[in-house]
Amino acid sequence: MVDPTSVFLAPPLPGLDTRRVTADMLWHALEGPLQSPWLTVEDVGRSAQDRPLRTITFGEGSTGLLLWSQMHGDEATATRALADLVGFFATREEVDLHRRLRQHLRITMLLMLNPDGAQAHQRETADGIDINRDAVRLASPEARALAAVRERLQPAFGFNLHDQDVRRRAGPDGDQVAFSFLAPPVDIHDTWAPVRARARQLVATMAAAALDALPNRVARWSEEYEPRAFGECFQRAGTSTVLIETGALRDDPDKERLRTHLAALLLTSFDRLADGSWEQTDPAVYTGLPLNRPVLHDLHLTGGTAVVGGRETQADVALLFDDPVAHQAPRLAELGDLGQATALERFDCTGRWVVIEPLDKRSPGVVAPEDRVHIEIRKDGPEGPIAAEY
Ligand SMILES: [Zn+2]
Repeated sequence: MVDPTSVFLAPPLPGLDTRRVTADMLWHALEGPLQSPWLTVEDVGRSAQDRPLRTITFGEGSTGLLLWSQMHGDEATATRALADLVGFFATREEVDLHRRLRQHLRITMLLMLNPDGAQAHQRETADGIDINRDAVRLASPEARALAAVRERLQPAFGFNLHDQDVRRRAGPDGDQVAFSFLAPPVDIHDTWAPVRARARQLVATMAAAALDALPNRVARWSEEYEPRAFGECFQRAGTSTVLIETGALRDDPDKERLRTHLAALLLTSFDRLADGSWEQTDPAVYTGLPLNRPVLHDLHLTGGTAVVGGRETQADVALLFDDPVAHQAPRLAELGDLGQATALERFDCTGRWVVIEPLDKRSPGVVAPEDRVHIEIRKDGPEGPIAAEY
């Protein structure tokens, strides 16, 4: 993998260090890099609310790549990673990797396909359309723009870039998912036609690199056939397309680390495509990935003494955060014997007191599921020193 610690190759562009990125922020951050002679910028359409849809192209090689990000407006991580790659392409012509990529590849990026959704911080377009269910009907101008770019360029490879629900683990025993991948099916029979087999090979290459950097945090997305989605549609049309979903990492509240990992991962895949080594990856890396599995809760505090209104009970505590990426605003999900319930994280509170203060104040000294709470984990007794709090 292109070493993520050496991402001096593509240092993060300033002005995009939050999960909520709008079109104004993006194009402002790219103003400088887009003056570069190594890049071609093209207007390819307008959103429903008349914001520009643009492609940025780098390289003059024979293998065409098309990447698009943020077709769901509230999924900005890949837009930020692609912006960092634009920064690399714009300025680092002296680096070997830059020369290899521009000689062998032609990389076209459509950043922020859904700028209206980005402005409103919502998944759908301004007209309420989910672009990834509009690949066949093409009712939205955004979907039409993407389909037209693919039709015109006929790229060999497509990269469909998203953020996923962060309440997912890599298999039953894995950690919270950082990245999940899919080589989308071309029919309900799950056929491995050559176009899809190439996508699988590329996914295996990226998954191997991701597993090196983030073991136990890489998963395979559900392979259910969704004929209205762009991955499936482009795969049928002859572009080997991969779906990459970015999840979350503990202590990465703005997904800055994952943004950097994603930029490194994409650079790695470009490098493998440029030198042909992607064809040597064992496709079993893909089929062997654990499935992206939902969990019920964000955090389990187990084995401790729960304290509510001064009363003590032997009870586990399950929490859900309103913002599960930043671990902010906890609500009580369940209290008592959690049985087989799953959580992203488990904190063993044996020998400790879990003091639960309800913030909703319906009735003093009483809590119930869904209540907003403040939690203090105390040592030596219910009034002892605080070990952790949420
Ligand atoms: Zn999405």
